[in-house]
Amino acid sequence: MHTIEQLDDGRAVYLNGHRIKVSEIPIFRKTLALNNEYYHLQQTHPVVHTYTENGRTYDIAFKVPRNIDDLRQKHQAYQEIAQSNNGMLGRTPDFLDSGMAVLAERSAFLGHNKWTDFAANAKHYAEWIKENDIFISHALQNPQLDRTKPINGIPSGYAGVHTIERRADGIVVSGAKMVNTMAPIADDLLVFNPPELLLEKGDTSYAVAFATPLNTPGVKIICRKLLDHPGYTEDDYPLSNALDEIDAYVVFDHAFIPWEKVFVENDYQMSNRFFIESGVFIHTSHQDEVRGITKLEFATSLAIRVAHVLGLDGFLGVQEKLGRLTANLELIKGTITRSEEAGHLDEFGIYTPSQQALLAVRASLPGFFEEALKVTQHLAAGSMVGVPGFAEFDGDNGAILKQALTTDRASAADRSKLLNLAFDLSSSGFGQRQLMYEYYHGGDPMRIRSKHYLDEDLRAGNAMLDQLLK
Ligand SMILES: Cc1cc2nc3c(=O)[nH]c(=O)nc-3n(C[C@H](O)[C@H](O)[C@H](O)COP(=O)(O)OP(=O)(O)OC[C@H]3O[C@@H](n4cnc5c(N)ncnc54)[C@H](O)[C@@H]3O)c2cc1C
Repeated sequence: MHTIEQLDDGRAVYLNGHRIKVSEIPIFRKTLALNNEYYHLQQTHPVVHTYTENGRTYDIAFKVPRNIDDLRQKHQAYQEIAQSNNGMLGRTPDFLDSGMAVLAERSAFLGHNKWTDFAANAKHYAEWIKENDIFISHALQNPQLDRTKPINGIPSGYAGVHTIERRADGIVVSGAKMVNTMAPIADDLLVFNPPELLLEKGDTSYAVAFATPLNTPGVKIICRKLLDHPGYTEDDYPLSNALDEIDAYVVFDHAFIPWEKVFVENDYQMSNRFFIESGVFIHTSHQDEVRGITKLEFATSLAIRVAHVLGLDGFLGVQEKLGRLTANLELIKGTITRSEEAGHLDEFGIYTPSQQALLAVRASLPGFFEEALKVTQHLAAGSMVGVPGFAEFDGDNGAILKQALTTDRASAADRSKLLNLAFDLSSSGFGQRQLMYEYYHGGDPMRIRSKHYLDEDLRAGNAMLDQLLK
């Protein structure tokens, strides 16, 4: 756990054209406090959130799952962490910790070069993260600059991150990564490529995977615009004034990375294998989808609460809409349970959730989440957009508004706060970013669905077809 002041460690964070100190930005302070719930829960609910190994206690996310009960305990811990932020923080520390647990065991395939042992580096890195409970963020997606060319054929030098110098003690890298969520408030940054890095023959300098502290000289974190509303309170914007899981464009300008922190270098096949074969993809997906249900549960409950407070929940047509949302929620919960029940022991004895089940969640959850937001918009309608700022309740019009906006179901203040929450999640910039996050953060749903179809086990279905058609 760290305090916001500890993040003023020399890291180069830019916001709206200025280099800033992280501690100066109120919404970063609030976001860090929520993120720290991950550490806090280890103290307040250790039975679920911790485990002991060789006499030391660690966060449960670091446990290598050996059976379904391990996955179930992790599930519960991920869910409780997500509940502390209503599923709005996608990249709490448990996300990448779950990947570190398995990277340490599965790193042998990374091999070595003449300067360093990549397999040992990855293992030691994962162990160091676990021993010190370091908060990592990650950047894999490369900026989309020219889709007609392989990445190393794009002349700008910022189409990805690449080695510009190889030395006895490490590599010097330059370039950029497109989006890095939570970079300003994390400790360390894990950089690698998606599993389909396309390179022209010859130059494999973009084929790198490494880790580096976020205050490394030459690393620049350039934040997107903030989504909070200074001048308004959390009664007006219950979500966007409480947190901003900030996204950033990350630039590397001659940043030095010692060999001990390099896991892939100058090897595009290894770069393509890194995410999947390390186990990081599948185990982080499990955390991610559990967080996803938590958010869907929040959004579904919000739509239902809005229907009730606005006196709409007795209408059959409204009940049908709400029933679609609750059915969606059950489907997602069931599919995550299936991912755990249909898991298998991999060749390292790691109990691994079913990828097809987890990808089914990722393929469907964005649509279900969007549907919950749409239902909320449609039900909250004009009542939602007509809510005045909370300061009005203490101004000249306070008495009128308190009387006019109170109903038999809620006081003016309670009704307004609920409608403000509905607006924030369904319609504000914060809400739209959450929608985008749910849609894209796990990769393009088009590609996820395509992969799902290609990998599905249809032997039983094909047997029926063959029987009928023969
Ligand atoms: C809020 C948010 C947070 C994120 N956080 C992170 C992070 O922390 N770290 C990180 O590495 N990444 C992060 N990402 C990036 C995310 O992983 C990517 O946005 C996602 O993988 C999609 O890639 P892209 O944005 O390059 O989309 P593109 O590949 O540019 O796709 C854009 C659109 O074009 C379509 N398209 C593209 N190619 C084709 C084709 N050949 N045929 C048909 N249609 C096509 C796609 O289907 C899609 O609709 C984040 C994204 C968001 C939105």
